[in-house]
Amino acid sequence: MDALTSRLRLRWLLFFTASIALTAAIGIIGIAVRQTATDQLQRYVHLREQRIARQIAHDLRRAAHHGGWPLMQLVARQTAHQLGTGLILHADRKVLRIAPAAGTPHTPSLVTVPLFSRQGPLGSLTLTNPPGFEPRLSPVLQAIERALLAATIFALALALGISWWMGNFASRPLERLSRASRAVARGQREVRVAVHGTSEVRQLSEDFNRMTHALAASERRQHQLVADVAHELRTPLSVLAGYLEALQDGVEVPGQDAYALLRGHTRHLVRLVNDLETLALADADELPLHWRTVELSDWLGGWLPTYQVTAQQAGLAFRTAVADDLPPLLCDPDRLEQAIRNFIDNSLKYTPNGGSVAVSIERSPGGILFRVQDTGIGIDPEHIPLLFDRLYRTDPARARDSGGAGLGLAVTKKFVELHGGSVGVTSAPGQGSTFWFKIPLSPAASS
Ligand code: ADP
Repeated sequence: MDALTSRLRLRWLLFFTASIALTAAIGIIGIAVRQTATDQLQRYVHLREQRIARQIAHDLRRAAHHGGWPLMQLVARQTAHQLGTGLILHADRKVLRIAPAAGTPHTPSLVTVPLFSRQGPLGSLTLTNPPGFEPRLSPVLQAIERALLAATIFALALALGISWWMGNFASRPLERLSRASRAVARGQREVRVAVHGTSEVRQLSEDFNRMTHALAASERRQHQLVADVAHELRTPLSVLAGYLEALQDGVEVPGQDAYALLRGHTRHLVRLVNDLETLALADADELPLHWRTVELSDWLGGWLPTYQVTAQQAGLAFRTAVADDLPPLLCDPDRLEQAIRNFIDNSLKYTPNGGSVAVSIERSPGGILFRVQDTGIGIDPEHIPLLFDRLYRTDPARARDSGGAGLGLAVTKKFVELHGGSVGVTSAPGQGSTFWFKIPLSPAASS
């Protein structure tokens, strides 16, 4: 069956199946109508024959009364002659048999009625070849059959037309979608199909359009990502190349400043490549997580206070508020530390001298809330929805020296999501920002 249908086009498949189904239905209805008509006609004929037989019996009874057996014979012969039927008359132990008129078609039907006189039972009358069904009523049946045949031919033509239309109606949108899919496969991403037809076809067309739209957007993002990565790599690489050339040509003298600069750019490159690799591995579900249950206060106490010194050097106040009632948390401590560090590093980076950075960790319904609040430069509302995108920086020209590659927040978001959590930010330009993420106590419960 599959081999057969795989070679058929949907249009023809629907056409054939609908035609066969409709033809069968019409045929069955035709046969049923013919059978019913025949049955009804036969019933009608039988009743009519009985009525005739009773009428003859009535005449014979009167004849018996007025003229006895001779008159009965005469009436019987006349009647048989008039009707062209044969008859057998039994009366008073006498029998009269009259053969049907020559040439009268034979019918197997027999109609027998009793004969009564005033004194009681007289005998019986049998019509051996009554004016029956054949051939008198067959023209009626033939007319019905002709009408049925005409109706069947008309219905069949209509059925074929409807099947053809149905086949086209069902297959045309699929062919349209198939053409559009081939165009997408050839690389055209902006292909859209018209949305009309039945609700399923409309739904499919809408889904297809959404899919191509998402595909085009993803491709645009990928192009942009590659361009941004190239841009991010170009600056440190050109600085490194220029410096190395200058050192080689003797234009620049090797010294601590030169080494520090080269190391800084190299570190930037290494971090960029590491972050990109981490995100790529996480996207492919190949980033290994080392789950461990940690006592949060002990764990935070091991590294959070070191920021005091960094903040002090930057002329910033650094405050921490770790709640006392924190339960143990199942997490990958290294990834989680990286996630918080990215927030804190940004706050230190984007908060001018004299400002403050506050880190708080507290319980929230179902999980732990990590929050980093600063009194820094803040962020324009238009940037907020894009902040956690890869390589996104609020400085579109990527000219500001203080900025990184724009991967830190994307990495944090990814790590938090791997823990089943969510991230967010509130900010006002010139007033500061609050970055937060929430991790559920049990990652399995949140997913
Ligand atoms: P970057 O390495 O550039 O800091 P991030 O992904 O960490 O990349 O941050 C993306 C952008 O978000 C930054 O370039 C910066 O414009 C903005 N941003 C992040 N944190 C802050 C903050 N605390 N205050 C102001 N702007 C911030």
